[in-house]
Amino acid sequence: MTKNIDWGNLSFVYQPTDYRVTAKWQDGEWSELELTTDPQVHISECAGVLQYAQTVFEGLKAYRTEDGKVVTFRPDLNAKRLVDSAKRLAIPVVPEEMFMKALDMLVKANEEWVPPYGSGASLYVRPFIYGSGPIIGVAPSPEYEFRMMCMPVGPYFKEGVKPIVIKVSDFDRAAPHGTGNIKAGLNYAMSLYAGELAHEEGFAENMYLDAGSRTYVEETGGANFIFITKDGKVVTPKSKSDSILPSVTRRSLMIVAKDILGMETEQREVPFSEVPEFTECGLCGTAAVISPVGKIYDHGKEIAFPSGMEEMGPTIKKLYDTLTGIQMGTVPAPEGWIHEIK
Ligand SMILES: *Cc1c(COP(=O)(O)O)cnc(C)c1O
Repeated sequence: MTKNIDWGNLSFVYQPTDYRVTAKWQDGEWSELELTTDPQVHISECAGVLQYAQTVFEGLKAYRTEDGKVVTFRPDLNAKRLVDSAKRLAIPVVPEEMFMKALDMLVKANEEWVPPYGSGASLYVRPFIYGSGPIIGVAPSPEYEFRMMCMPVGPYFKEGVKPIVIKVSDFDRAAPHGTGNIKAGLNYAMSLYAGELAHEEGFAENMYLDAGSRTYVEETGGANFIFITKDGKVVTPKSKSDSILPSVTRRSLMIVAKDILGMETEQREVPFSEVPEFTECGLCGTAAVISPVGKIYDHGKEIAFPSGMEEMGPTIKKLYDTLTGIQMGTVPAPEGWIHEIK
């Protein structure tokens, strides 16, 4: 049974489903994972998350394949990244096995919310850990909650894929050797204002350059870049100061490009001055897989990619079709990429 929902018209908005998974960290250990129907949390007014932004999160999707299985894509990488994020904010680590168990529990309990194959919709899973215990002196919270919730979300491109226009931001997203390489709520809090300004000016996203020199391309507020060179190489920026978030989608696309499509790939520093030489540009993340970028504005100057404003460039399209095919089960997946929920 699936819920009676107009799946194709869902947006990316919060909707409580029947169950969420929770565990509490107290006296140095995690409690057993539990399912709860309560969408509210009740915490101290002095909780570490409220006072000092002590929270980290993940984002991944569950979906139905053609043969009716419910699967997730490389969730082990989300589990590992949550470990790295937690360590950096002095949050107790949720071990990978505990994450995987919570994921199976959550998706199974909410199976009626997993959209049907072919609807373009998916079940978005949001795991997070936050400091729930009271702390006023600057220190890690004494207690934490690990929670995993989910909600059905519609297709990212409802009216077909349209390239977006972005701008080079006057703000920085992440300090050199700061928290840019972990998935922390604080990185998003500080990019909201810059994002609102960009939207008011009519841009879909901000391109952030490295904060140290404002010379190299880093990423947007929530997606990594890939570029295609004139001779068909796939290039993704590397950060000398460790301030790019390691996107699961981008890492997977680089493997698809090299091992499945036989393309040349490079992860290296990308000077912003090189960007006009690329023929295609895309933003990679779980939400859209790849959003094609048509134009980048840089203080009155415009970089317009040859792929134009009507459709995805041919190389990015090939990458997109192959990765989404792997996710949907129509293209053979590399070993271990597809995790079936049983
Ligand atoms: C989550 C995120 C991404 C995309 O990562 P995926 O694992 O592909 O979803 C890229 N950049 C930032 C800053 C992010 O938080």
